[in-house]
Amino acid sequence: MEYPIRLRVPGAALLRFAFAAITACAVALAGCASVSGSEGQAQTPTNVIIMLADGAAPTQWDFGRYSSSVLRQQPFVTTDVVFRRGTVGLLITGPADAYVTDSAAAGSAMATGFKVNNGVVSVTPDGKSIATVMEVAKAKGKRIGLVTTATVYDATPAAFSIHARSRRDSQALVDQFMALEPDVLMGGGADYFLPVGVPGGKRKDGKDVIAAFRAKGYQVARNTAELRAATGPRLLGLFADDDMDFEIDRDPAKEPTTAEMAQAALEVLARSSPHGFVLFVENENVDTAGHANDAASLMRALWAFDDAVKVALDFQRDSPDTLVIVTGDHETGGFSPTYALKDLSSLSSANRFYTGDAQLRMLERITMSFNAVRDKLGKKPSGEVLDQLLAAHFPAFRLDPDLRELILKQRTLERNFSYLPQNVLGRMVARQAGFYWGTSGHTPEPALVGAIGPGAELFRGYQDNTDFGRHLHRLINGR
Ligand SMILES: [Zn+2]
Repeated sequence: MEYPIRLRVPGAALLRFAFAAITACAVALAGCASVSGSEGQAQTPTNVIIMLADGAAPTQWDFGRYSSSVLRQQPFVTTDVVFRRGTVGLLITGPADAYVTDSAAAGSAMATGFKVNNGVVSVTPDGKSIATVMEVAKAKGKRIGLVTTATVYDATPAAFSIHARSRRDSQALVDQFMALEPDVLMGGGADYFLPVGVPGGKRKDGKDVIAAFRAKGYQVARNTAELRAATGPRLLGLFADDDMDFEIDRDPAKEPTTAEMAQAALEVLARSSPHGFVLFVENENVDTAGHANDAASLMRALWAFDDAVKVALDFQRDSPDTLVIVTGDHETGGFSPTYALKDLSSLSSANRFYTGDAQLRMLERITMSFNAVRDKLGKKPSGEVLDQLLAAHFPAFRLDPDLRELILKQRTLERNFSYLPQNVLGRMVARQAGFYWGTSGHTPEPALVGAIGPGAELFRGYQDNTDFGRHLHRLINGR
């Protein structure tokens, strides 16, 4: 083993074997993808799989690597295979109208090769709808698929496919997906497929878009068992009315994992695809956990995403004409694991701890997301319910009196922390485990992109997120 990864669990031999297989495949593919480094000679892949963890930048990826190694005793293939063995680049993330981006503007640049304003879905500031990656792929006769843990009409999957002057135009975005007819569309967001009056429905035009998809020959899956049973050539999977749950809260019977959705999508797309396919797989919960400053939920969302990357690499081993790209779109939360004082009694280094394995094990014992705590507390939090939730689900942590008062009085920490009680609970975890956060919003830290397979070389180096979009268009167009 080249990598210093601890494998101490009973199944270690099996894990080591699986990792060796992935690594061998990656080495072979790196060879098959090697080009001169100039844009002029890039190889063209038949299939492209874009794996995107929303809100992930270098710090998040490294947290995935470190926590996976310590707590799961297994490699984090995003860093240990794709970044180590593939081509690595950094992407500047800024939108047309600010320094800090939202997901709509970042996704639009990555999908079209053009900058747009924050909140806008693949429409330029002068009002042009520029062809998206999925539109180009469809025009080339490729099959297309979109998978997310967010609503399927959320900013990033929408930006990779369709157009809107506002990302909040949910009903119109669903209508455009209906017109685009992706071969696979999976995630949450059944609400804007169903009319008001039907449980969970929010459409104002009375239409049942799920029935309309069915009439176009789509198989529809509404839970994990239905997804497993799906065998048709086109698949609509809607597993939640709104966003799908955090991995830490997920009910496996209701909602499949990101890896299960990726596997199902690849099986559908690989069936009868003479011109190949483009698949986009997003884990949105990495971003949502960042907004909430929820390190334990972030850790499990990163592992869930990485398990889906393993699925993509397994597919690539059998179909080496596949380019696998792993990336984020921007950083969320100003995540900064660090060292800190144990308390405010002394500034001396003797009163300091460095965040490490012991603090990770405190995170491991957390069994509920901060968003679920918010839902259980409601708008008028009771001290009794708060204490019960903390005792049951955050056994390694105590809530300091000043933080408890903020939650009960519904006051936040600072102007850049807009989620209550989540950001205050984030500060509780930070004080005792050192996982601090700078904000509840996005930051301009460049996104890290790794690519492995034919055409990977294009993504090398320090680039703009519009370059990412240009490269994708070129690879899909076969030039
Ligand atoms: Zn976000």
